[in-house]
Amino acid sequence: MSSIPSDVQGRIADLLNTAPVDVAQVATRLGLTIYGQPLAERVSGVLVKDPSYGTPSGFVILVDHGESYVRQRFTAAHEIGHYVLHRDRIGDRVEDNYLLRSAGLSSAIEAQANRFAADLLMPFPLVNQLISDGITTVSDLARALQVSEIAMGIRLGHPT
Ligand SMILES: [Zn+2]
Repeated sequence: MSSIPSDVQGRIADLLNTAPVDVAQVATRLGLTIYGQPLAERVSGVLVKDPSYGTPSGFVILVDHGESYVRQRFTAAHEIGHYVLHRDRIGDRVEDNYLLRSAGLSSAIEAQANRFAADLLMPFPLVNQLISDGITTVSDLARALQVSEIAMGIRLGHPT
């Protein structure tokens, strides 16, 4: 069962069926914009409510553009997870460190955001489609979905 709420899945269904999942387009559909930029030391991602950006939701996502592309994608997906699942409890700002942990949220909440990110970037129906198309190794699947091999291995249930 996906951790992405069914109403959200309905709004991004086409994006969840196409590898690699277009995270920027997912954000746009949900009224968010993702900006890659320098962040404070040891900060990987920020979800912040700031009307000055003019997004439909009032929130934007900032990711550390110095990190690898696949990591930036996972961080952005994690922050989308906080927006979708936790925006009623985060106030105006959540700031995740390089472990994707934030000062104000429990590890259970962070695990939910990570699960959401995995469900967004590596939807099981899409993974199964790729496998039936003949893309079967962890590294090839990771490349097709633009995720790290570590994330892909975890998704497939391989020990790390
Ligand atoms: Zn987080």
